[in-house]
Amino acid sequence: MNIYMDASLGLKYNSPQQQARVITENWMSENMYCVMCGEHHLKHLENNKPVADLICPACQNIFELKSHNGHFGSLIADGAYDTMLARLMDDNNPHLFVMEYKRKECIVENLWIIPSYFFTPDIIIKRNPLPPTARRAGWTGCNIAWKNIPVLGKIPVIYQQEVLEPKFVCEKVSATMALATSKIQARGWLMDVLYCLQQIGKEYFTLDDVYAFTDYLQERHRENHNVQPKIRQQLQFLRDKGFVEFLGRGSYHIVNKE
Ligand SMILES: [Zn+2]
Repeated sequence: MNIYMDASLGLKYNSPQQQARVITENWMSENMYCVMCGEHHLKHLENNKPVADLICPACQNIFELKSHNGHFGSLIADGAYDTMLARLMDDNNPHLFVMEYKRKECIVENLWIIPSYFFTPDIIIKRNPLPPTARRAGWTGCNIAWKNIPVLGKIPVIYQQEVLEPKFVCEKVSATMALATSKIQARGWLMDVLYCLQQIGKEYFTLDDVYAFTDYLQERHRENHNVQPKIRQQLQFLRDKGFVEFLGRGSYHIVNKE
């Protein structure tokens, strides 16, 4: 994998956004492999799909690319809010590549893959509609809240210009596949509990550590009046999938998947 991008491809475009899009997308199709099945190349998807960008010819998984010159910060600007929410509910929701590049050197600095099943409505944040004076007045975009995505779901492919071993990346992705659930509500609970475990930040934790987030979780799931049983249910799910070990007496251990 060559982390340098071909800047000459952008020459025929005037807008910097379009130049960046062509250069980064071309780099992806020349260099990026499928993190789901290990296939060596990804292909551009036909133009009639406005948001999804690349497809794996072997396993048919779809990938979207978001790229940014320099660091993204805590929010990633995304497309139209309604479109994004609708796509979330779709089983074909694409996986997301997040790229940070350096425009001047035309080099890929960081690249992460976020498997689609880590996306929940809480991660998509509605922006204010564009003002009446704007060309696309009333259009409402959205941001992706980077910090709300569990660490497990942000898998580095290139980190500080270092290309990570594809086999290792694919293994990390496949270790998370057990968390894939197409039911959006179940996914929300699961990701929220994972987020709590991440905030607890300990390899060994107790049920009380997680119960400390009861108010937080209640706020996010107002329709549910059994938050603590729900927490236990998610911990059982994580145990069944091999992410958490039950040690008895309300003690748990996070299984290191690396
Ligand atoms: Zn594939």
